[in-house]
Amino acid sequence: MLKIDLHIHTIASRHAFNTILEYVNQAKKLKMKVIGISDHGPDNHTTLTDDIYFRCLDRIPKYIEGIRVLKGAEANIINVEGDTDISERARKKLDYVLANLHTCLSYKDQGRVKNTQAVLNTIKSGKVNIISHPQSFDIGDVDRTKIYEAACEYGVLLEINLSHLLPRGFKKETLDDYREIIDVARKHKHKVIVNSDAHSIWELADDQYLKKYKKEIGLTDNMIINNYPKELFKLLKIDE
Ligand SMILES: [Zn+2]
Ligand SMILES: [Zn+2]
Repeated sequence: MLKIDLHIHTIASRHAFNTILEYVNQAKKLKMKVIGISDHGPDNHTTLTDDIYFRCLDRIPKYIEGIRVLKGAEANIINVEGDTDISERARKKLDYVLANLHTCLSYKDQGRVKNTQAVLNTIKSGKVNIISHPQSFDIGDVDRTKIYEAACEYGVLLEINLSHLLPRGFKKETLDDYREIIDVARKHKHKVIVNSDAHSIWELADDQYLKKYKKEIGLTDNMIINNYPKELFKLLKIDE
């Protein structure tokens, strides 16, 4: 089980099934230390979130039941300039932001070069901390290697997303993709972050499938930033 999991969807994302408190209680049961709530940004087709939802997340305490609860968002990249659907006002209230070029209301596939440029611009903006499931951009083709390289160069974490290892949607290529992400990160002496992308409490921090494939994808414990909370907090520029 992960001790830290920063990719969690609540009922506010509408296609996820638990509340923040239910995740906290589950985290306590699993003896976790840190969870991060990261509902989809408002440009997602199905989410119930809007700008005010993210701006008000700071009303939730820092610690609940002894668990450090970080407030984040899984942002959508909305244009080639690399802007996301998390406003500056909201971003300032959040502890961290994940981003990806998901299918969303604003961004339409603009071909490999522009799609890649959009993600590179987001990485360079300094406004996101993690590229979620960087092997999977459902909007269209991108130059993934270029994105992995840029993320390492600009101190943006690449995510090893556990939900893509679950049997319900597993593809063998994902293992090759994860191996490449890990190889690029290692070359840059960078760590990766492992997150569940939980859509229910039963997926929280569950790394049983990662354990199965870890050796195959070349992931070693010293490369997982979840094992180094101080380093993670420093990178996110937030207090423990
Ligand atoms: Zn996502
Ligand atoms: Zn997600």
